[in-house]
Amino acid sequence: MQTNKLLNPTTAQAIDQRVEKLLKDLGSPPPPLRLDDVRALLKLDIGYYSSDDDSWLREKIHQMRVAGKQILDRPSSILQVVKNLGLKGVLLAEKRRILLDREIPEPKQRWNEAHEITHDLVPWHDGIAHGDPETTLSPGCHELIEAEANYGAGRLLFLGGTLVETVRSSDIDFAAVQSLHKLYGNTMTTTLWRVVEASLDASFGLVSTHPREATSSPEEDIRYFIRSPKFATDFAGVTADAVFGEVQRRCRGRRGPIGDGLFSLTDDRGQAHEFRFQSFFNGHDALTLGKRLVARNVSVMVSGVSR
Ligand SMILES: [Zn+2]
Repeated sequence: MQTNKLLNPTTAQAIDQRVEKLLKDLGSPPPPLRLDDVRALLKLDIGYYSSDDDSWLREKIHQMRVAGKQILDRPSSILQVVKNLGLKGVLLAEKRRILLDREIPEPKQRWNEAHEITHDLVPWHDGIAHGDPETTLSPGCHELIEAEANYGAGRLLFLGGTLVETVRSSDIDFAAVQSLHKLYGNTMTTTLWRVVEASLDASFGLVSTHPREATSSPEEDIRYFIRSPKFATDFAGVTADAVFGEVQRRCRGRRGPIGDGLFSLTDDRGQAHEFRFQSFFNGHDALTLGKRLVARNVSVMVSGVSR
C-alpha cells in the first residue's frame, strides 16, 4: 500500500512554474495534452525496453548506484533491477531519450512518460535522477525525487492550474472524476489522485480490490491511499484500513458504481466529521472518492420552533 507523499509548497511551486512555462511555450493547448508535442519541444526521443531487449538499459546504467549499492552485479538481471527499484522508466538526459517499459499497459505509459519528462524539466534532478551513472541515492532522496516527478507528471497531464481551478470551484463527485478522466485523457486512478490532492477541504481517495473480494490483509487489498493536504493534517490518525473497512461495509454492486453513503471519521482532536463516499469498480480496481460534508448553517426545527 502506498500513501501519497505531499511536497512542501515551495518545491511544488517551483515545479508548477516550470510546467506552466512549458505549457505556455506549447501555446497553451487544450486537453488532452499530446506528449508527442511536449517531447518535440524538448527535443526528447522515446525508446522502449522489454524482457527481450534491454540493450538501451545496459548501455546506460551499468555504473548506476542506488542507495549506495552497486545495483548491477549480474548483467542478466538489469531489467529485474529496474523493476525492483520501481522505476517508471529511464531518462537519458544528454542523449535526449526517454526509455519506457514496453510491458506496462498503454494507459500507464502516458503517466510514466510525463514522469520522465518532469525529471528532464526539473533542474535539481539533473545528475540525481535515476538513469545517471555513478549516482548514489539514499532511499529517502530517491523517494523524494520520485514524488516530485509524479507531482510534475500530474501538473503536466492536467494542464497546470486548469484542473486545480475546476476542483476548487465546483463540488466534484465521482461522475465529475469520470468526465475529467475523459476530457484530459488520463487514467481514472490518476484523475482521482489529482482531484483529491487539489482539494482544499478534507478528502481522500482509495484504490483497492473490490471490497467484496477483500482478503484479511488490507496491505494487499489497498493499492493507494490518497489524502488531500487538509485530510493529511487534520486526520493524520485515520488509517487506510479504517477507511476501507467503512467503505466495505457499505458496498453492494459488482461493477460500475458499487456503493455510496455516509460515515464519520474522527479527526486528531477527537471530533467526529461526516464524510460522503462513492465507490466505482472499473474491472481492475475499486476507486473510492470520499469528501467531508461541509457544515452549513442548518436551521433545525424543534417543536415547531426554528432555531
Ligand atoms: Zn523517476
